[in-house]
Amino acid sequence: MAMRVLIVDDTKTDRLLLKLHLSKLGYGTIEANNGQEAIDLFVENSQDLDLILMDVQMPCLNGFDAVRAIRKIQEQEKQEWLPVIFLSASAEDDDIEGAILAGGDDYLMKPISQKVLSAKMLAMQRIADMRRRLVETNLALEHLASTDHLTDVANRRAFEFVLDREMSFTRRYGVHMALAMFDLDKFKVVNDTYGHEAGDAVLVEVSKRIKIALRDSDIIGRLGGEEFGIILHNVKEDDVFKVFDRYRKIIAEQPVSYEDIEIPITTSVGVVMYTGEKVEDKAALLKRADASLYEAKETGRNKVVYHP
Ligand code: GH3
Ligand code: MG
Ligand code: MG
Repeated sequence: MAMRVLIVDDTKTDRLLLKLHLSKLGYGTIEANNGQEAIDLFVENSQDLDLILMDVQMPCLNGFDAVRAIRKIQEQEKQEWLPVIFLSASAEDDDIEGAILAGGDDYLMKPISQKVLSAKMLAMQRIADMRRRLVETNLALEHLASTDHLTDVANRRAFEFVLDREMSFTRRYGVHMALAMFDLDKFKVVNDTYGHEAGDAVLVEVSKRIKIALRDSDIIGRLGGEEFGIILHNVKEDDVFKVFDRYRKIIAEQPVSYEDIEIPITTSVGVVMYTGEKVEDKAALLKRADASLYEAKETGRNKVVYHP
């Protein structure tokens, strides 16, 4: 993909020449007049920029100070490194060293040779491509680390991370959240009767049905084996039982089709509320939900036990 370049120069003709040359090479550009404008444009467009070409001598804020400020923002926001090439009429060693120390990646002498600029752009394009691949790889790794590979819902680690976050949210804003743990009933029999692969297909289908039914702000995670967790973000106590009983029915009302067999499935659900009033940590809340689940199993299965 062609790079997008921020051109920063206080001389209009210099900006125009750079823009003309870069557009001939197929790059998109935006322009700033001075260091301060460069920072503002960077903040607005940081996601869409691949390179900054930065003049050194400018009124308001010079190029070195502007790049120092941009690097600071990037560090605070944990952003990827954005390549910067300084453009200057000075050939002094001190200036070249200062440019790199300020956070620049390269330094070109004015007047800019079109040939040198084209070559440098090519080198920067390679770096931009590498950077993009790195971002993609990171996203893929994050997905792998937080997703259950069989059902594609959140894994236990990611679910507990969200649970922590939701509990903080609940305490801070005085809202209420619900936590459910649900476990497939007599699932061992499913595996023993139809085979492990059929069992896997059931886990996938059950996850899918709940995912479709959930609101965007709610989450399902696989806590292990045939046990799942659901968090309802910001709900009224009176609605909670109804919601989970609907989920229970969604799973029970239609058997899971696998190859040419129909597998009837039911679940037991244990539900608790978290209101942030009592001092309670994540482990204690999960334990309460587990106790409700245990009660649902003990008192007949295929039911919701709710202890606010
Ligand atoms: P209960 O109603 O008391 O929950 O009975 P159950 O048979 O579901 O409970 P139990 O904990 O005895 O058995 C759970 C079974 O879930 C045993 C295990 O083989 C199966 N299981 C766990 N993870 C997977 C999985 O990833 N795939 C398949 N197919 N089965 C799994
Ligand atoms: Mg079970
Ligand atoms: Mg179990």
